[in-house]
Amino acid sequence: MIPADHPRAKSLHTRERLVDGFRRGLVAPEGLIAHGRGEAFDYLLGERTSAVAKQATEAAAAMLLLSKRPVLSVNGNAAALVPKEIVELAKAIGAAIEVNLFYRTQEREQAIKDELLRFGAKDVLGVGEGASAQIPELSSERRRVDPEGIFVADTVFVPLEDGDRAEALARMGKKVITIDLNPLSRTSRAASVTIVDNLVRAMPALVKAAEALKGKDEKTLQKILAGFDNNENLGRSLMTIRGGTK
Ligand code: ATP
Ligand code: MG
Repeated sequence: MIPADHPRAKSLHTRERLVDGFRRGLVAPEGLIAHGRGEAFDYLLGERTSAVAKQATEAAAAMLLLSKRPVLSVNGNAAALVPKEIVELAKAIGAAIEVNLFYRTQEREQAIKDELLRFGAKDVLGVGEGASAQIPELSSERRRVDPEGIFVADTVFVPLEDGDRAEALARMGKKVITIDLNPLSRTSRAASVTIVDNLVRAMPALVKAAEALKGKDEKTLQKILAGFDNNENLGRSLMTIRGGTK
């Protein structure tokens, strides 16, 4: 039991959820290490959502709502930490959900699909034979995607993606939206919109933003996007780490 008044209680709870996800076959051992890198950046960010991240969240919601075929790409860490919010976001914006793993095994794909179905997902793409299309220029299992999902998507939302794959998706002409605590990662730099924040804070905020912007006309959404520049967003996020802005 983590005492509620422990100064790092939230962070420790998140760790417990990941370890639980690992034991249930959702999270790869490497996913635990990736989380550690995220935690280090979160520490530097003061473990709170910056004003910069809030703006990026608005832009991400606007971009998702303007997309014709948005797909939410889910890995083990995301399924362990924010399954409810993934399903809520898919419903709010009318997106498909696809399992997309760096370390692919049929068991883990299926476990992640089952978890998302348990939280109310209608369908989950990318499992087993479902992942039969390929991202060009990527090697091995990492290139497999669903021909009905990421392969034909105009916008791919990839919370916690590997840089190589994020770059390959961008080269395919897709808009890439990510959540990544490291504003310097290749994923952060390859994306059209990067929310520099912890998945556990950013996902509920993104669901709220999508629900709030849902009824707005295209012009309003486009205006939000026009006012957003991802390079500037990443620069300001670095400044937040250095203590320059909030
Ligand atoms: P890249 O491949 O994009 O250059 P990387 O190789 O440094 O980045 P990976 O191991 O591919 O990193 O992926 C882990 C990334 O996920 C890290 O950038 C880390 O900051 C981020 N991350 C981990 N946990 C979280 C979390 N809970 N919320 C947001 N970001 C996270
Ligand atoms: Mg990487």
